[in-house]
Amino acid sequence: MHYEGPIFRPPSEANSILLQVTTGCSHNKCSFCSMYQGVRFSIKDEETVLADIDFAAHHCRRQHRVFLCDGDALIMPQQRLVPTLTAIKERLPWVTRVGTYATPRSIELKSPEELQQLRDLGLKIAYLGLESGDDRTLAQIGKGTGSKEMISLGRKARSAGIALSITVLLGVAEPGRSLIHAEETGRVLSAIDPEYVGALSLMLTPGSALYDRWQAGDWRQREATELLTELGVMINHTNLTRGLFHANHASNYLPIKARLPRDKARTLQLIERALQGQVPLKPENLRAL
Ligand code: SF4
Repeated sequence: MHYEGPIFRPPSEANSILLQVTTGCSHNKCSFCSMYQGVRFSIKDEETVLADIDFAAHHCRRQHRVFLCDGDALIMPQQRLVPTLTAIKERLPWVTRVGTYATPRSIELKSPEELQQLRDLGLKIAYLGLESGDDRTLAQIGKGTGSKEMISLGRKARSAGIALSITVLLGVAEPGRSLIHAEETGRVLSAIDPEYVGALSLMLTPGSALYDRWQAGDWRQREATELLTELGVMINHTNLTRGLFHANHASNYLPIKARLPRDKARTLQLIERALQGQVPLKPENLRAL
């Protein structure tokens, strides 16, 4: 397979065929993110992508999922995505699901019919970084999209039959805005009602704008108890039909897997017990991105 630059994928795509169709991220402006700093966004040529699908046809016969890399592969024009998904369908008939990262803009640029066409060709899940439902926080982190638009774009993807896995970020709001960030994020998640939510805790990495602020003494990283309080408020304000709310990413202090609404009361009790010191938290040196 032909790869350029760093390759990232969601934890749930660990066993997927990683097919790189773009490099970098077309947005690349989020203040907490250094994933693709210094990487120029580009769409890989069709010949290279089709050669990789051919390679997978011979060597990846036990992998039943494909993940399209990099940062927001859904931004590719429809006339490039359709032949790519068609080739996956024809050459890798054992593949049951194709996934991709999506940015708000990449969903906005596709019509409902185009999204439906991609779904029919096998694109069954998109991973979308919401980070926050608070408009001030969204503006502060450079997300480029407000909460109203996030709700509309999330619903648009789901209406096309594409499942959504939404990432939210604990500890990303400015000091004093933590609980507003938590409440508003719960509100937006409830309005989109995604199949999956993944909560991560902010960990600053060199190359990001927030890291530079922290180095300059202009940003305070949150304590574990502050992040847990935020998580509790967020879950309390999140009403899903039957979505999975996960906070079991390596960056979090307390692993949580809850199906909402069924597990809400039990999960809030667990967080409360952790805040009272009755449940051990992950040691700082074991946290990672
Ligand atoms: S968080 Fe996602 S959308 Fe934002 S810069 Fe990083 S890869 Fe791009």
